[in-house]
Amino acid sequence: MTGFAITPPDVPALAIFGSDQTFPLRRVFCVGRNYASHAREMGADPDREPPFFFTKPADAVVPASGTLPYPPATKELHHEVELVVALKEGGADIAPDQALDKVWGYAVGLDLTRRDLQVVAKKEGRPWDMSKGFDASAPCSPLQPVSCTGHPQQGRIWLEVNGQLKQEGNLNEMIWPVADVIAYLSRFVTLAPGDLIFTGTPAGVDALKPGDRLRGGVDEVTTFELTIGSR
Ligand code: MN
Repeated sequence: MTGFAITPPDVPALAIFGSDQTFPLRRVFCVGRNYASHAREMGADPDREPPFFFTKPADAVVPASGTLPYPPATKELHHEVELVVALKEGGADIAPDQALDKVWGYAVGLDLTRRDLQVVAKKEGRPWDMSKGFDASAPCSPLQPVSCTGHPQQGRIWLEVNGQLKQEGNLNEMIWPVADVIAYLSRFVTLAPGDLIFTGTPAGVDALKPGDRLRGGVDEVTTFELTIGSR
């Protein structure tokens, strides 16, 4: 017997700046609390925690443009603007000084979060999947190849909602820089080409409502603009 029993799903992919090609996606990893200011606003001590990770489905990645659906089952959809790293190579137990060689490019994304569900999950000791990994929960700008951006180590990361600055930080405030994130994550899973990593958000996360207009960016990478749709 050969062949798939149903039509195989499309390979999720991300747009690339200035290219007709797209970047195929394998998995999406996210770092929790990678900026001290955000760790503190969530009630954690940034000095005491090693990085921790959660995941989103690859097909939760959607373009950070146009109008995004307001997801069901939440009354508290939070924005988290993040630098996104795309891997062209993988491996296990990657050394920090080899880690940036695995990077294909960078983007800016939102780790959208159903905060009300996450609060319950934390309290009850339940998984975060339904608070973090819902449909369209990972809007992301087109990728910029490393040949255009280098490996940004500093620069402003910011998000405006309806023209008001809500989140602002600097990449140099990351507790675990990109190379350390890749190295640490590769101790838990064998990383692979097509993996994306959302690298954490600075302080200022807050709830979105239908009709909100978002603009965000990382100064060394790119910017994006989108609108939150109706419920
Ligand atoms: Mn996040």
